[in-house]
Amino acid sequence: MYALSYYMPGKIEYYREKRGRNVWVLPVFLCTFLVLGAVFVLLGYYAAKDQIQMVMAEESTGDMLVQEGAGMGNGRKENPQPEILSEPLPQETQEPTPKPTVSPQPTENPLPTVSPQPTENPLPAVSPEPTVNPLPAVSPESTQHPENGVETEKIKTMYLTFDDGPSAEYTDTILDVLAKYNIKATFFLVGENVEKRPEVAKRIAEEGHTIGIHCYSHAYDDIYDSVESYVEDFEKAYQVIYETTGVEVKIFRFPGGSVNAYNKKICKDIITEMTERGFTYFDWNASLEDAIKKTTPEELVKNAKDTAMNRERVILLAHDTIYNTSLCIEDIILQFPEYKMEPLNEEVVPIRFRLN
Ligand SMILES: [Zn+2]
Repeated sequence: MYALSYYMPGKIEYYREKRGRNVWVLPVFLCTFLVLGAVFVLLGYYAAKDQIQMVMAEESTGDMLVQEGAGMGNGRKENPQPEILSEPLPQETQEPTPKPTVSPQPTENPLPTVSPQPTENPLPAVSPEPTVNPLPAVSPESTQHPENGVETEKIKTMYLTFDDGPSAEYTDTILDVLAKYNIKATFFLVGENVEKRPEVAKRIAEEGHTIGIHCYSHAYDDIYDSVESYVEDFEKAYQVIYETTGVEVKIFRFPGGSVNAYNKKICKDIITEMTERGFTYFDWNASLEDAIKKTTPEELVKNAKDTAMNRERVILLAHDTIYNTSLCIEDIILQFPEYKMEPLNEEVVPIRFRLN
C-alpha cells in the first residue's frame, strides 16, 4: 500500500504532464458510449418485443385452426382466446420463447366455441324424428277415446247385438250413437216390426250393420209348437227382410235363446234343421238384461259390465225396443274401451248355450 501510494500519484502526474487535460477524455467517452449503447439495445428490444408477440399469437391461432378439424379439446373453460392477443402485451414483458408453452391453452379455446354447433345440431335434428315416429305408429293400433282423448289398445272383441226391432222410437237413436263412434252392430229383426218400420230396417242395412233373423211374430207358443211351425215363422221373416232391405240373411237368433223353457223338447231338432238349411245361430254371453222392467240406464251398464266379466270375446244382448237401452248405449260403448266392437257374420265363431 505504501509503495502504491507512493507510486500512483507519481504515475498520474506523469500522464497529466505527458497528455495534459486529454488524459480523461478517452475513458469518459468509452463509458458514455457503453451507456448509450446499452440504452439503444434496450430500446430496440422493447420495440421488437411487441412484434415478436404478435407473430407468436398469429402462429398459435394458426395451430388452433388446424386442431379444430383434428379433434376435440380438453374442454377447459378458457375462452379469452382473442383477449390473450391483447392482454399479454402489457403484462408479459419477457419470455418470448416460453410463449409457445402458453399457446396450447388458447388452442383449446376455439374447440368449445365451434364444436357446440355441430354437436348440438345433429341432436335436435335426429331426436325429434324417432320420438315423433313411434306415436303415429302406435295410434293406429289403438283407438282414441272420443270423449276424453285417452287411447286404449283394443285387445278384446265385443259384438253388440239388438233383438226385437226395429222400433219406431229407439232404433234410430241407437243407430245415431253407433254412427257417431263408427261402430257396426248386429240387429236380429222381427218380421212384423220390419213391415211396420221398413225405413228403419233399410237404414240398418244401408249403414253397414249386420241383419239377422229373430222371428216373424215373436209368439213363443206358436213358434215353438213344432219344428215346422218354427221354420214357417222363420221363412216368413226371411222373406220380409229380403223384400224390404235386399239382404239375404245368413245368421239368426232364437227368441229366448237356443235353449229355453218353450223349446226344450224340440230345440235340437230345430237346430239340426236350420243348420242343414245353411243358417248359423248366435246366443250371447253377456246381457244388459234390459227386458226387465224398471231398470235404469245406470243399472243396464252395470249389468253389461257384470255379465261381460272381461272376457276376450263378448256377445252382448240388448234390445233396441227399450227406452233406457237407447239412453245407455253410448255409455256402454265408453265403458268398454278395451273392446273392439264388431258386427257378427257367418264367419264369426258362435257363442251358444250348452245343449243338455
Ligand atoms: Zn226377442
